[in-house]
Amino acid sequence: MPGSISISPKAQPASPVKVLGACPHDCPDTCALVTTVVEGRAIRVQGNPAHRQTDGVLCTKVSRYTERTYHPERLLAPLRRAGPKGSGRFEPVGWDEALDDIAARLQAVAARSPEAILPYSYAGTMGLVQGESMAARFFHRLGASLLDRTICSSAGTAGLTHTLGGKVGMKVEFFAQARLILIWGSNSIASNLHFWRLAQEAKRQGAKLVCIDPRRTETAEKCHEHVQLRPGTDAALALALMHELIAHDWLDHDYIERHTLGWAGLRERALRWTPERAGEVCGIPAQQIRDLARDYATLTPAAIRLNYGMQRVRGGANAVRAIACLPALTGAWRHPAGGLLLSSSGMFPVDKAALQRPDLLGERRPRTINMSTIGDDLLRPASPAFGPRIEAVVVYNSNPVAVAPESGMVVAGFAREDLFTVVLEQFRTDTADYADYILPATTQLEHWDVHLSYGHTDVLLNRPAIAPVGQARPNTQVFRELARRMGFNDPCFDEDDQALCRTAYGERVDFALLLEQGFASLPVPDAPFAQGGFPTASGKCEFFSAALAQQGLDGLPDHLPNYESAGSSPSYPLAMISPPARNFLNSTFVNVRSLRDIEREPLLEISAEDAQARGISSGSVVRVYNDRGEYRCKAEVSPRARPGVVHGLGVWWRKFGLDGTNVNQLTSQRLTDLGGGPVFYDCLVEVQAV
Ligand code: SF4
Repeated sequence: MPGSISISPKAQPASPVKVLGACPHDCPDTCALVTTVVEGRAIRVQGNPAHRQTDGVLCTKVSRYTERTYHPERLLAPLRRAGPKGSGRFEPVGWDEALDDIAARLQAVAARSPEAILPYSYAGTMGLVQGESMAARFFHRLGASLLDRTICSSAGTAGLTHTLGGKVGMKVEFFAQARLILIWGSNSIASNLHFWRLAQEAKRQGAKLVCIDPRRTETAEKCHEHVQLRPGTDAALALALMHELIAHDWLDHDYIERHTLGWAGLRERALRWTPERAGEVCGIPAQQIRDLARDYATLTPAAIRLNYGMQRVRGGANAVRAIACLPALTGAWRHPAGGLLLSSSGMFPVDKAALQRPDLLGERRPRTINMSTIGDDLLRPASPAFGPRIEAVVVYNSNPVAVAPESGMVVAGFAREDLFTVVLEQFRTDTADYADYILPATTQLEHWDVHLSYGHTDVLLNRPAIAPVGQARPNTQVFRELARRMGFNDPCFDEDDQALCRTAYGERVDFALLLEQGFASLPVPDAPFAQGGFPTASGKCEFFSAALAQQGLDGLPDHLPNYESAGSSPSYPLAMISPPARNFLNSTFVNVRSLRDIEREPLLEISAEDAQARGISSGSVVRVYNDRGEYRCKAEVSPRARPGVVHGLGVWWRKFGLDGTNVNQLTSQRLTDLGGGPVFYDCLVEVQAV
């Protein structure tokens, strides 16, 4: 029952117990946790000092984890809808009754067409077990539609894969030894804290830090230099840097010769991008590009920490391709402290097939739905091209009503009275409000899991520190029980969570070590590409991708202007990006009171010049709008915004917004050049004082 917390009465020693775990959130740092438990109650969550990447430190968000776990609004029992869709009226229901009904209703849809059922999940937990293990088995066995999980990083993944061969890069610890660090598209202080500590160490030893970001973030303020380019122009900047490397012969010809593919074509293309031309496109001085190229060539080893912010535009994948070419041109990969890191997750030997069992599909090949177009797809009628209308959605580890683009459409889709919606959740999120059933989910303190990281190269194990709060259940248990009710008797549905943790890596990671210390380091060389050996088809860094060319696409990276590029619309003259508020992580933590108190309220940052032209002052309520919708929030006239660009900080739950919406009311469902990713930062708007 809301307001009261019951802990199952397992005997616990009265003295504090420390339990080793892993942070489950969508953050590259994947911290090792130590939870202190007294009499069955978690009283403190801290960073594990024995794990060198965590170094005993957590961000503010996860330091408050007990506040989140024992939150008075935590869902403690299953709920069934008791009013119109989205009214938020629910009644408690027993687990058996809920699961019996859900199984029966899914079975009825599956009898007509299993593809009319859609699982919808993302990185609400990054855990391999509570993420996609038993859930994937269940949906594969059912033959449900497949979900293309694109909403955060798929453009960057495609860009990296078509250049370096996968999500691979520098070992993060070596950034501390770099002499130049380009922090590109990342507010590291807010979203990659442990990397920032390494960057600080490098700075103390004399390194220069340069931040490349349309917003003057906390990170940009603390770097030596800020390159404040327009959103969606990163590829132009990268190509102009190449131009300068070529013009001054700041190239490692030997590395290019031995370990790259397509140099002649890239050279020709880059020579078209003079600093003047790129400066015009990026909205920065040509001289700044020249100086940056000189620094990149001469302050060696030079390292690039790229993050996913910059790939949420039409040309996001091409931009990542262009940037990922830079270290091979200068031979930066030769040094452990040179190269680039966007994501390290491809270095983890996860046995996804064993966890997710795609073989349970048999001969069936269900359609794939892109999660970034859920708004359109929920409203799409049946057709030969689309297949059956979506009749049932099961949402876990995700909050699409708040986070998916063009949320007016997403809401309209979830509001369909004929859509059967089940949401596994810890809280009454915007999405849960539209559910037919809400099933209470455990937090990371209450279940087993095992993790990879996309910011370092250690595997982490998460042990449950406390019994499930209220009647909450792990996702795995819910899907196991649904499978049983639906008569799926493959033995894989009996595998328990600890066994799933072992299955994730099999013999490739020492599970005894994970049990003992909570983490295990992968045997990754210090300079993984010093001698080339990229995991591409050619084994080289592919400036030219034959795979792309075979698809009729450009084999070389290029600058692709935004769909909604600055200056292209007289009605909507401002480019809007929507970076995360510092104390939230996507839409997680928005309901944690102490964190929300820091963020106060949804804000739109606007430059003094743009504010003055519109009669807007800090604290004014403004209407932000375009053809897709409108959103009201308070304005903050801020030096963080460059003229022509506004920042709608996210991702607030719609229910906390002034008019019950959030910034995604304005974003579009168009997709990136490669990878089918969303284009959250490719969005023109106008702003008006209300
Ligand atoms: S959110 Fe990131 S920095 Fe914070 S505890 Fe989790 S992994 Fe560490």
